[in-house]
Amino acid sequence: MKYISTRGQAPALGFEDVLLAGLASDGGLYVPETLPKFSAEEIASWSGLAYHELAFKIIQPFVADAFGDEELKEILAETYAGFAHKAVAPLVQVGPSLHVMELFHGPTLAFKDFALQLLGRLLDKVLERRKERVVIMGATSGDTGSAAIEGCRRCENLDIFILHPHQRVSEVQRRQMTTILSDNIYNLAVTGNFDDCQRIVKKSFANQDFLKGKRLVAVNSINWARIMAQIVYYFHAAITLGAPGRPVSFSVPTGNFGDIFAGYLAKKMGLPIEQLIVATNSNDILHRIISDNNAQQESLEHTLSPSMDIMVSSNFERLLFDLCDQDGEKLSALMADMDDGSASLSINQVNKLKSLFSSARADDATTCSVIERVWKDNEYLLDPHTAIGVYAAEKCRKSEQTPIVCLATAHPVKFPDAIIRSGLESPSLPEHLADLFDRPESQYVMEATMETVQEFVTARI
Ligand SMILES: *Cc1c(COP(=O)(O)O)cnc(C)c1O
Repeated sequence: MKYISTRGQAPALGFEDVLLAGLASDGGLYVPETLPKFSAEEIASWSGLAYHELAFKIIQPFVADAFGDEELKEILAETYAGFAHKAVAPLVQVGPSLHVMELFHGPTLAFKDFALQLLGRLLDKVLERRKERVVIMGATSGDTGSAAIEGCRRCENLDIFILHPHQRVSEVQRRQMTTILSDNIYNLAVTGNFDDCQRIVKKSFANQDFLKGKRLVAVNSINWARIMAQIVYYFHAAITLGAPGRPVSFSVPTGNFGDIFAGYLAKKMGLPIEQLIVATNSNDILHRIISDNNAQQESLEHTLSPSMDIMVSSNFERLLFDLCDQDGEKLSALMADMDDGSASLSINQVNKLKSLFSSARADDATTCSVIERVWKDNEYLLDPHTAIGVYAAEKCRKSEQTPIVCLATAHPVKFPDAIIRSGLESPSLPEHLADLFDRPESQYVMEATMETVQEFVTARI
C-alpha cells in the first residue's frame, strides 16, 4: 500500500517510511492512497476473534509491504497481551442501548496505549532491521507523553525526549512519565505552557541541524500508524454488538480528531456505522465547524478535560482532504484559511460534513453533572472526557434502536479534580500503579526556549 500527502507535493511512501516520517515534506499528513474494503460476509466471519486476531485482519493490508504475516501476528499478540483486561476493550452498558467502551486498560490508563504500544514495537523492528538509531521528540499536555514513553521504553534503538509544561500536568500524569527510569528516556519539564512545548518541538522538526544527522520521529497523532491502530476497536465494539447485521453508532471525546478519524475510516472500510458523534468541551471549534461552518479561533480555555483542550485539531486536515475530493492544491488553500481562522466550507462540503458527523459541546458544569448522574444511576464512574462523550451521545442520537458506543478514553483516577468537583470520591490507583507515589522520579527542569532544549538533546544523543 502506498501513502500520499494531503498537500499533494511530497512523494508517495510505503508503510515503513511513513512510520518514520511524521509530517510529509510538503507540510501535509500521510493518508493511504486507497483503503481496504471488507464485505459484510468477511466482517461477520470475524465474530469471536480475540482482539489481537481481529487487529491482524484490519492492520495487515496497511503494513503488508513492511511486515510479514507471522511477524505481525506475533507483534500484535504481544502488544495487547500487556493490557490488564482480558477483553482488552470491554463494553459496559450505562443506559438504554448506551455502552461505554473502556479503552483504559493499557499501562498508562488512557486509550493512547492502543496505538503507542504498537507503534513502539513496530518502530523497534524497523530500526533493528535498518540498523538505525533515531530521536523521538514530543510535546504533551499529559496523556501522550506517558503513553509514548511506555510504548518506547523497551526500544533499544532510540532516545526519547518528552516536553511537558512544568507544574501544569496532574501529579498522576507527571509521575507516569518521570518514574520510568531508563538511560534513553528524558522528561523535560519546560517552564512555560503546553503551546510553548509544542512550538519548540515543531521548530525542531522544521530545522534538524542539532541532531547530528540522526532522524527525528514523531509520536503524536500526525503519525499514521497511530490512526491505523485505532480503527481496530471500532470493529471490535460493533461486531460485539451485532454488526454487520445491525448498525452501531459511536460518540467520541475529541481533541486532535485522531480517534474519531479512525472511526470515519472504519466506516469507509465497510463497517455499518450509523452515526459518528464529535464530542467537544468548551474548546469547541470542531463543534462550531460541523454545526455552523464557523472555524474562528477563540482563546484556549483550561477545562476539567485537559486532553481535549486543543484549538487546532491537526488530524482534521485528513478529513478536509476528503472533503476537497483529495485535491492537494484545494486542500492547501483551505488550510491557509484554517490557519488564520477565516476558513469557510462550500455548501457541498458542509452538507457532506453534516452527513458524516453530528456534534455537541459540554462545558465543565455539564461534564460534572453527567459524572454525578451516571454514578447515581449505575454506580459507574466516568472520567471527564468520557462524560462529555456520554453527554453528546444522549444529545445527538437519532434512534434508540441503534446501539451507541461512547469511547471511554481515560480511567477516572487520572483526573481526580473533575471527580471531586462532581461531589464524588476519587478512586484509588489500579494495582500495577499502586506504588506510583513512592517511586523515584527523574526530570530535567529547563527554560522554554528552543536553544536550551536543543542543546540538551544534542549533548545526549
Ligand atoms: C488524547 C485524548 C483525547 C483526544 O483524542 P484525539 O485523538 O486527540 O481526538 C480524549 N481523551 C483523552 C483522555 C485523551 O488522552
